[in-house]
Amino acid sequence: MSKKYNFLIVGSGLYGATFAYLAKKQGKKCLVVDKRPQLGGNLYCENIEGIDVHKYGAHIFHTSNKEVWKLANEVVEFNRYTNSPVANYKGELYNLPFNMNTFNKMWGAKTPAEAQAKIDEQKAEAVAKMKAEGRTEPANLEEQAQLLIGRDVYEKLIKGYTEKQWGRCCTELPAFIIKRLPVRLVFDNNYFNDDYQGVPIGGYNKLIDGLLQGVETRTGVDFFEHREELTALADKIVFTGKIDEFYNYQFGQLQYRTVRFETEVLDVPNYQGNAVVNYTEREVPYTRIIEHKHFAMFGQQVYDCPNTVISREYSTEWMPGMESYYPVNDARNAELYAKYKALADNEPNVIFGGRLAEYKYYDMDDTMESVMKMFLSL
Ligand code: FAD
Ligand code: UDP
Repeated sequence: MSKKYNFLIVGSGLYGATFAYLAKKQGKKCLVVDKRPQLGGNLYCENIEGIDVHKYGAHIFHTSNKEVWKLANEVVEFNRYTNSPVANYKGELYNLPFNMNTFNKMWGAKTPAEAQAKIDEQKAEAVAKMKAEGRTEPANLEEQAQLLIGRDVYEKLIKGYTEKQWGRCCTELPAFIIKRLPVRLVFDNNYFNDDYQGVPIGGYNKLIDGLLQGVETRTGVDFFEHREELTALADKIVFTGKIDEFYNYQFGQLQYRTVRFETEVLDVPNYQGNAVVNYTEREVPYTRIIEHKHFAMFGQQVYDCPNTVISREYSTEWMPGMESYYPVNDARNAELYAKYKALADNEPNVIFGGRLAEYKYYDMDDTMESVMKMFLSL
């Protein structure tokens, strides 16, 4: 007997919503369930005082994948937001990513040659230290950062921020985390190297609603509370929740890093003049302040809206029951995930996708790309 749905999609985040969108295009019938009271997973925005507040963390869409960009733009139009965070170190303001504006403020460098000379001088110190210890590769994040950019930038803009974000000393963190930080000898504050970026006009909820248009959805439904009954409804399950939970934590729990947001409405139109200000000193307890309106309002629009909403972000050690944001890249978790993955690989009627089911830090474009690839393999 044929079942009511082709796919039961567990989770209405970007993975589940994109899957439903592509399945619907192929004439497939889907049911999407989510345990949260609203759709959208971590992209969900709450409207406060006419401002879209990124409730589960600030999201900026950026990609170099033309197909992904095309797919997203099929559903919603994007604005011209360009991420250009500012770092506040003990009241001194620096542009990010590290570029000529940063080096001018840090060292007074006026030309790329002057900045390069200063970086080389500082890098040489780090190289000499490694040589003296008989090593050719950086042993940890501290060394990697100093090899990339030198001591001054490391101490003012990297050390405190990174230690707050990861809850560990830079000497105990792997070098690869910092490889993501771009270093440029141009006066360009655009944080991303990608060809396309922006924020959906009308907010991320519009992207999710567009993807899920015409698809049956149920919120406030935890798959595990209705497992048998839901499983019986569809030919296949697309599972975007936590893979360890799917298997009853039989090998133990995967760990995460989480973030606590302290959100406040302020009676001023413009609090910090930028969407993102990072606090890079160790002593300030939060990592950054997000001023949400700057993702969507530009020029006079900022002042036409009399209030503003800010969120202070506190990077927090994860405990079971908290929001699971960032997978932890260490050997213990990699091994544990591999055990669950081996079970998942032998599950004929379940597709495991997205950042919780694949235990992977996916940006939004990676998430959409991964759904597109999954579809090609079906
Ligand atoms: P999720 O959004 O987590 O969706 C999973 C859904 O499954 C959730 O709605 C959850 O409620 C539901 N679910 C789980 N278990 C069950 C269950 N048992 N029953 C029913 N439903 C269940 N990417 C960018 O490209 N740019 C950014 O600026 C950016 N910023 C980020 C900031 C933060 C703080 C975080 C955490 C991520 C950020 N990302 C960013 C990544 C982005 O959020 C992800 O790529 C995207 O959300 C992945 O979608 P997903 O569907 O895999 O996961
Ligand atoms: N980072 C830093 N100072 C900053 C911003 C970032 O030292 O002001 C470091 C930090 O170690 C962080 C890494 O760069 O973990 C990557 O930061 P990014 O904001 O690119 O990534 P995300 O936090 O979104 O994963």
